[in-house]
Amino acid sequence: MTSASSELFERAIRCIPGGVNSPVRAFRSVGGNPFFTARADGARLTTVDGDELIDFVGTWGPAIHGHNHPAIRKALHDAVEKGTSFGTPNPLEVEMAETITRIFPSVESVRMVNSGTEATMSAIRLARGYTGRNKIIKFAGCYHGHSDSLLVKAGSGALTCGKPDSAGVPEQVASQTIVLPFNSPDALDAAFKLEGNDIACVILEPYPANMGLVLPEVGFLSYLRDICTRHGALLIFDEVMTGFRLSLSGVQGIESVVPDLTTLGKIIGGGLPVGAFGGPRRIMEHLAPVGPVYQAGTLSGNPLALAAGLASIQLLEQSNPYNGLEESTHRIVQTLQVAFSNKGIPVKIPSCGSMFSVFFSDTDVNEYEDVLKTKSVWFKPFFHGALKRGVFVPPSAYETWFVSTAHDIDIIDKACEALAETIANLEPEY
Ligand code: PMP
Repeated sequence: MTSASSELFERAIRCIPGGVNSPVRAFRSVGGNPFFTARADGARLTTVDGDELIDFVGTWGPAIHGHNHPAIRKALHDAVEKGTSFGTPNPLEVEMAETITRIFPSVESVRMVNSGTEATMSAIRLARGYTGRNKIIKFAGCYHGHSDSLLVKAGSGALTCGKPDSAGVPEQVASQTIVLPFNSPDALDAAFKLEGNDIACVILEPYPANMGLVLPEVGFLSYLRDICTRHGALLIFDEVMTGFRLSLSGVQGIESVVPDLTTLGKIIGGGLPVGAFGGPRRIMEHLAPVGPVYQAGTLSGNPLALAAGLASIQLLEQSNPYNGLEESTHRIVQTLQVAFSNKGIPVKIPSCGSMFSVFFSDTDVNEYEDVLKTKSVWFKPFFHGALKRGVFVPPSAYETWFVSTAHDIDIIDKACEALAETIANLEPEY
């Protein structure tokens, strides 16, 4: 049967690689073709075919207030009246920098960019420029955007020289990235013992959420802080996903571990393309035009994007929604847990605040190798069963679900009912 979505997808694949502008949208890991969204309001997406879906993707994190929030829409309307881009400094840049530095004690100075990828790529360059060292450490399964140095997660054993995940990334670049298993102090020790004098930084998602949600073991983050300090390497918390979501000041507002640099994105753009990276003035002032590390952007600090982002942050500061978000999340997680258990399907559902993920596994998942073992015959039918019943969950088994303040009790109840029915009717797909 043709639908408006399938017609659009046919047109799209002729002129957009794979029909999408970001790979996971293509539904490759669940099969079938993606639907196209005509509009999004609150906790719901409306497809071009007129179907209404309860959305747990939340535009992959930014939509903590749900979609199309009136306060963000008004801020955008007000800003658009004044012009869309100036190419000179504008007052909202100062307001955003003052807001971020007030909320994040570890950030005295911050530079705005246009995406999370730009934020992490620039933070890495700054760390290299600041320390005069080349190598970086990242953890397998952590995603930091698609810049060359960070598209590396392969490798076995405690210490591996990187191999690129993507064609087009030179081996020479990838080899500067050391990939370690998350939650392993021993692997860190070994890497620093071998390469300590040339390690510019360690970058991580402090609560990794791009291989499903994996939480750090008690003490791991402070161990990291300590080993970086001892070896003169910078510690970069990539809080693109967790910043303003798990608490206003992200994971660093929950854990008492202070990074050297922080990267932000998603929520600080209120749904428009924004990223940021920041830290102490002594490090940030190595950036051009003060220092020798070059970094720039035609649209960086764009007034529309910052107006939306500031409105999004103001809403969070006014309403402090974190307890409510956690309660909503808890209700869904409980429902899933009971429904899977009734069906006899073992799952682990780690959650934190408004984020959670479903691993089809009967053992805990602490790092990437554990994640790979969870491959399951249940995810595809679960995804499509939920979609058929009006619930859009992330179209990959290794993505995190996002709950928003627009997921009110009625919507949560509807979603729980649909998800429970989906699970009760699951048939494995081999
Ligand atoms: N860092 C993290 C932790 C992310 O989750 C993402 C995107 N999901 C990025 C960086 C890259 O951000 P963007 O897609 O805006 O480039």
